[in-house]
Order: sequence, then structure tokens, then C-alpha cells
Amino acid sequence: MEQKEKLEKEKNKSLLQVVEFKKEDPFADPEHASDNAAVDTDVREQVGHDTIEAEIKDMERRIGEIEVALRKISKNQYGICERCKKTIPQARLKLIPEAAYDIDCEKKLRK
Ligand SMILES: [Zn+2]
Repeated sequence: MEQKEKLEKEKNKSLLQVVEFKKEDPFADPEHASDNAAVDTDVREQVGHDTIEAEIKDMERRIGEIEVALRKISKNQYGICERCKKTIPQARLKLIPEAAYDIDCEKKLRK
């Protein structure tokens, strides 16, 4: 199934991105704690760390959504809106393969 391949590819890409983000995290530097850096450097590292942390959280949420979508494929429930049970339009699934809702429900849920 085409969507399944797409989702698996997306998942792998996201997993790799998480690894990359973790490498960029200034706190991942083993010398970080003992480098006695100036205060402004520490602040910059803190901001960098927080930004990366947020990016990783976003990525992990997406990976979770992809996994849910993959499970749905194996149960033949893929492409059905979780809220109204209508079929999610193909065009939307092409754009967002892990979409759990159609556009109407997504809008309502985001409010
Ligand atoms: Zn819906």
C-alpha cells in the first residue's frame, strides 16, 4: 500500500531527525557542565537546549501519530475520521498521511 510506505518513510525520517536534534543539543556536549562558560554562553546554550527540546517533542508527537495511522492501516480503518467517521479525502491524506481527522473536525478540535 502506497500510504503505508509513505508513513513508514516519514516515520524513519522523523526518527533520524530526532537523533540529529539530540546531537545539536548543547547540553549533549559532554564538556558542557565543566566548561565554566560565561553567563551569556550558558544562557544561549539554555535557549538552544529548550528550542531543541521543543522540536524533539513535536517530532515525537508526529511519530506517535504516524504509528497510530500505521496501526489503522493494519486494521483497515485508515483514512476514516476519528470524530465523525467519514472518509478523509484522498487529497488531505496525500498531504498529511497521518491525519486522524478530516478538515472540518480538525478545525473544530483546534478551537
Ligand atoms: Zn470528521
